[in-house]
Amino acid sequence: MSIAQNIIQLRASLPKEVTLIAVSKFHPVEAIREAYEAGQRIFGESRAQELKVKQKELPSDIEWHFIGTLQRNKVKDIISYIHTIHSIDSLRLLEEVNKQAAKHNRIINVLLEVHIASEESKQGFSPYECRMFLETIERNAYPYIRITGLMGMATYTEDEEQVQNEFRKLHSLFMEVKEKWFDNVPYFKELSMGMSHDFPIAVEEGSTMIRVGTKIFGERVY
Ligand SMILES: *Cc1c(COP(=O)(O)O)cnc(C)c1O
Repeated sequence: MSIAQNIIQLRASLPKEVTLIAVSKFHPVEAIREAYEAGQRIFGESRAQELKVKQKELPSDIEWHFIGTLQRNKVKDIISYIHTIHSIDSLRLLEEVNKQAAKHNRIINVLLEVHIASEESKQGFSPYECRMFLETIERNAYPYIRITGLMGMATYTEDEEQVQNEFRKLHSLFMEVKEKWFDNVPYFKELSMGMSHDFPIAVEEGSTMIRVGTKIFGERVY
């Protein structure tokens, strides 16, 4: 199937309140253009340098989401157009985003990344660190960012029950965080979870944003 057909079919299978982020990392601008022609406007990239090149060549009404590990010294390269950063996992990174956003007088949406998988290598706060982070940050000190939710990745496994449990855990943390720290904050509403192989489970467990690459664009060639 073509990229356009994949997008249309995927859209049709999702509840309308779930946002589809087309993860275009490692795919050429032509592929993104094809998805764009099919009506897709939200794209996810995971490397600042690659995003910088693509952003220049593509329509300006694309909403770019950053989903990978973001080095602090790369923040300035993407800050003038990035819409949402899904991978905030330290105070220093949050501070840098706020500082660079201030220079452009932009407000950036950010998600706190929480480590829910059993694999060691995945990024993110532990649930405990996430609570401590929210307890200790000076909430009014970052006027150029809005914390709009949480993001997480499940373990890469065939064991669907494990994946479901991990997503369920993140959803419950999301509810707890919303109640404790964002009770009167309507924009704290996003739970970014689910990728090509596990998004149906994520959607069942309350995901509001899925990040899908392979199912749209095919296998990545690294
Ligand atoms: C690459 C990536 C995705 C998309 O993965 P697919 O399996 O191709 O859908 C989603 N989220 C993050 C954080 C990624 O790095």
